[in-house]
Amino acid sequence: MRLHVNSGVLMKLELKATKKQVNKASGWEESIVLAVIDLDKSNAYPTNFVCMLPADLKPRTKQPSIFMQTFGDEAPKLAKTLLLKALNGEDNAEVKNEIHKRLKTFEVTPPVEAQCVVCHRTFQPKRYGRYQQRVCPACRQVQET
Ligand SMILES: [Zn+2]
Repeated sequence: MRLHVNSGVLMKLELKATKKQVNKASGWEESIVLAVIDLDKSNAYPTNFVCMLPADLKPRTKQPSIFMQTFGDEAPKLAKTLLLKALNGEDNAEVKNEIHKRLKTFEVTPPVEAQCVVCHRTFQPKRYGRYQQRVCPACRQVQET
């Protein structure tokens, strides 16, 4: 079933931060996990549990998270709204850090700029593995002819 955020039905969604032991390559580590809860359902956790807020919100064709499945196209927008809301009411520094980290993934990274070694104009270089273009497209065209 797909739920729609704007229908007003889901206005009582919130995030609940809990600590969990996560098995990582480096061993067991304590991580903060964020669960989506529905206060319309209940005020008590975990009765009001909806799903986990995944760290990765990029749409994946294989195995989309329950959060993505449930909220579809609205998932990223809802995630951001929930994170900002959670940040407001949060005092725990560790949880705040985690929320900031998640919010960072929504920031658009500005395009990389480089200065052309020939004409010194700035341009957006392409990367090929570790190699990054140092000559702008215009100068490259001149060099090739
Ligand atoms: Zn140039």
